[in-house]
Amino acid sequence: MAIDPKHYTKVVHAGANPEPLTGAIMPPIFMTSTYVQEEPGVHKGYDYSRADNPTRAAYETALAEIESARHGLAFSSGLAAEQAIAQLLSPGARVIVSDDVYGGTGRLFRRLYAKYGIDFQFIDLSDEQAVKAALTPETKMLWVETPSNPTMKVIDIRKMAAHAKSVGALTVVDNTFATPIFQSPLALGADIVVHSTTKYIGGHSDMIGGALMVNDDALFQQLKFVQFAAGAVPAPLECFLLHRSIKTLAVRMQQHERNALVIAEMLSQHPKVRKVYYPGLPSDAGHALAKKQMSGYSGMVSFDHGGSYAEVVSFLQRLKVFSLAESLGGVESLANHPERMTHASVPEDLRRKLGIGPQLVRLSAGIEHSDDLVADLRQALTGG
Ligand SMILES: *Cc1c(COP(=O)(O)O)cnc(C)c1O
Repeated sequence: MAIDPKHYTKVVHAGANPEPLTGAIMPPIFMTSTYVQEEPGVHKGYDYSRADNPTRAAYETALAEIESARHGLAFSSGLAAEQAIAQLLSPGARVIVSDDVYGGTGRLFRRLYAKYGIDFQFIDLSDEQAVKAALTPETKMLWVETPSNPTMKVIDIRKMAAHAKSVGALTVVDNTFATPIFQSPLALGADIVVHSTTKYIGGHSDMIGGALMVNDDALFQQLKFVQFAAGAVPAPLECFLLHRSIKTLAVRMQQHERNALVIAEMLSQHPKVRKVYYPGLPSDAGHALAKKQMSGYSGMVSFDHGGSYAEVVSFLQRLKVFSLAESLGGVESLANHPERMTHASVPEDLRRKLGIGPQLVRLSAGIEHSDDLVADLRQALTGG
């Protein structure tokens, strides 16, 4: 599918205003904790950098613009952004969570927030009957991650948002995998979009960060208050670098997706590979929905390596262009073993149910040339 042409220009200019004093085309990095006041309480709109910082403000404007949202908020990590959302909940609340969310999201809810009397129900959101059955008047939030990690399940955002709305619950969509380039959850009815900017938005594997985008003014004020009161804000230098990364997001995503498609096609025809998970493949269970809901399939491909765990390990060790590492979305290609790495914190029985076993490998297609990536995977699959 084609990237909406408007994205290419939008990302370059997002949040960009020449700096008023000098005309600097890039926002200066305001490395300051505080701001001089003319008299108590009289200042230029900035009083303390946990509350507001001009470099962060420019970046947050850019975040809002790329997600076509009214408001953007930056956090020091994706999980800090998620925690700000969790702070909206009170004891007694019920939250429906996609059963194959990012491992750290499940850990945040199970290990840190369940003890405050919040009931997190992890269910398969592709099962609409199960979602309907789980909705109650106490349901305050429905948490969607699509495409999901690591099995690339595609969830119908429009339907989930309608279910949530029927009981007055908020819909949250983790848009990290799709990025604003390929998916617009707010336009499909979601209330909050969350990103780990560590991944595609940062794009260079050199930073940890998170973001929230919302349209509703009151919801924004609540989340901004959490950002200020709890204080998980990124530093000005990080804001500057993430803002810079946004400028190349569209061209990077185009190449990530091209490479992922070539890789998925090669793997699906490879005699050793048992199954490929990529919504861009017409044979994939999520293909039809992805085609409708997204404008591209992004750069993540998982597959079931047909061999034993020992063979999977030697495959991973034979890779030369791909690096064995957690994380995703950087310019360099990465391979990951979800069971032992990113999803080790997911309870064993749930891992089995989700198909996260010893043979599952997750790839993050970088922006190298696809010939080199395919050749690397081929040699690692056949070598020995
Ligand atoms: C990495 C990731 C997170 C967590 O973000 P951090 O920046 O690591 O805190 C959340 N959701 C998804 C889908 C992720 O990939």
